[in-house]
Amino acid sequence: PGGKITLGQIDSLSKTSFPLCMRQLHEALRRDHHLKHGGRLQYGLFIKGIGLTLEEALMFWRSEFTKIMEVDKFDKGYAYNVRHSFGKEGKRTDYTPYSCMKIIMSNHPGQGDYHGCPFRHYDADILRQKLVAYGVPHPAIKEIQELVKDSHYQLACARYFEVTHKVSLPHADAINHPNKYVEESRRVHE
Ligand code: SF4
Repeated sequence: PGGKITLGQIDSLSKTSFPLCMRQLHEALRRDHHLKHGGRLQYGLFIKGIGLTLEEALMFWRSEFTKIMEVDKFDKGYAYNVRHSFGKEGKRTDYTPYSCMKIIMSNHPGQGDYHGCPFRHYDADILRQKLVAYGVPHPAIKEIQELVKDSHYQLACARYFEVTHKVSLPHADAINHPNKYVEESRRVHE
């Protein structure tokens, strides 16, 4: 639904339709003009999944990274990986965007990393501050915190979706993939 997403829509879409995990990656990239390896992988495959072309993806990464480095350095050090994730280099595998399960279970983020799942990987106070900043009302924050405490990260994410979209999801496991989240969100916003 909603058709293909283009580069020009990505900032507004990150606010209305991205799950927390991808919104934090987008914001960190815009702010720091850089993401570490884990973030580039998670976010790079996600934006491919929402429909950006290889050319758009290259333009996107280049426009940020070249604010802090020479174009030449970007082209030599990073462009390869962008093409690689689109299956244009190396073994030419067309890599699939990560599911929630994969993001939650693997590659725990370290210092300076922005990948991962905020419901799983943020400490409780940082998560609460984020939710407040994004306008989630207090009772819903409480519910989300309870779900997180019981390790129901995807349910917490689904609850976040419901509150921020003012809808009820048809079933509890409606959110199992960040790209699915975006699809559902665009359906609601249409
Ligand atoms: Fe992202 Fe999935 Fe975590 Fe939601 S549950 S923030 S979509 S990884």
